[in-house]
Amino acid sequence: MAYKDEKLHEEKVFKDPVHRYVHVRDRVIWDLVGTKEFQRLRRIKQLGTSFLTFHGAEHSRFNHSLGVYEIVRRILVNFDGRPNWNREERLLCLCAALLHDLGHGPFSHSFEKVFKLDHEDYTRAIILGDTEVHQVLAKVNKDFPQKVADVINKTYQDKLVVSLISSQIDADRMDYLQRDAYFTGVSYGHFDMERILRVMRPMEDQVVVKESGMHAVEDYIMSRYQMYWQVYFHPVTRSAEVILTKILHRVKELYHDGYAFKSEPVHFRSFFEEDVSLEDYVRLDESVVLYYFQMWAEEDDPILSDLAYRFVNRKLFKYVEFNPNLQMKEWMALYRTFQEVGLDPDYYLVVDSSSDLPYDFYRPGEEEERLPIHLLMRSRELKELSRQSEIVEAISGKKRTDHKLYYPQDLIERIADDVPGKRKILDILKQANQ
Ligand code: CA
Repeated sequence: MAYKDEKLHEEKVFKDPVHRYVHVRDRVIWDLVGTKEFQRLRRIKQLGTSFLTFHGAEHSRFNHSLGVYEIVRRILVNFDGRPNWNREERLLCLCAALLHDLGHGPFSHSFEKVFKLDHEDYTRAIILGDTEVHQVLAKVNKDFPQKVADVINKTYQDKLVVSLISSQIDADRMDYLQRDAYFTGVSYGHFDMERILRVMRPMEDQVVVKESGMHAVEDYIMSRYQMYWQVYFHPVTRSAEVILTKILHRVKELYHDGYAFKSEPVHFRSFFEEDVSLEDYVRLDESVVLYYFQMWAEEDDPILSDLAYRFVNRKLFKYVEFNPNLQMKEWMALYRTFQEVGLDPDYYLVVDSSSDLPYDFYRPGEEEERLPIHLLMRSRELKELSRQSEIVEAISGKKRTDHKLYYPQDLIERIADDVPGKRKILDILKQANQ
């Protein structure tokens, strides 16, 4: 029997708190799960620094990847035998679902910003490079690794296949919304996925939803909207993210200045040089990063040791609403006064705007618009969701940006009262908070 058709003697099941069970029958899928590059995802958290806000949010990209696979598997069971659906694409969809996040590194958002990396490049590199994942995929067929990479890259010719993995209502989002809601413990994020899966239909170039499923899809859109503002953009999570980013900036700067580290940051050297091989990349996971943070908390450089200590021990920055575009004068005054009192503003005065974070919500008509969701009407015509649903229309196309200013309240308070800058800083921050 061809490797691509091989089934396990007995179905394997993973217990899963969100989908109850994840079912695996295909030998290829089972072999992929066993590769070291996939196992590595156990050591990358799905929600980065969110665990410092929601203590339950320790789940990994391994959990999420299995979940996305399971959702696609269930969708395809429903697609079987329907017009427009080519059974030959089944294994490709399952592999792309399972592997779509393979190239994520530790705390991806900060790392990508500071070291100018793109996890999508590494997903491709792992699938196409000299890796265990590649060996498994190439056993299916020598073109197969490239096909999987193309689906994840959204360049695969069959757009229906692509839309299962990335569209406004794809398996990726359906999994992370529910999983992140479950592990953070919030009450948003829940919607009737079983209902949505039952009313999904394959069309030539996209998955559409039968008109009768509109309310379930509305729920999904709303849960998304709430999760972004209540969980993903939570100001405390962003405080941890700000500190993390500044640690990386500091350590990179010290490296380039020839600073003598007490212990050499060997795992980071190629990141500092911005020349990261695949091998270096997959070697760095969150357990390694957190080990270094503990080491750096002991360094002589006061900024690095302070920031690392803060991250490890959750001594986060405080924040106020602050829009630097509208509060330019205050910004300049704060920046100058921070310098005067000996707090480096490049590390201790940070504006974060949540629209800078690489998430987007349902916004038809904007440049970043992904494939819109289409309803399949009884008349067989397709209608874009926000034209049919007033609820979705109400939140569509409205971009909201949240600006916050982060600063170390404890260090400011520790400044002696007779230092003139102290009062000034506290006054400006107090006013900004009103
Ligand atoms: Ca994902």
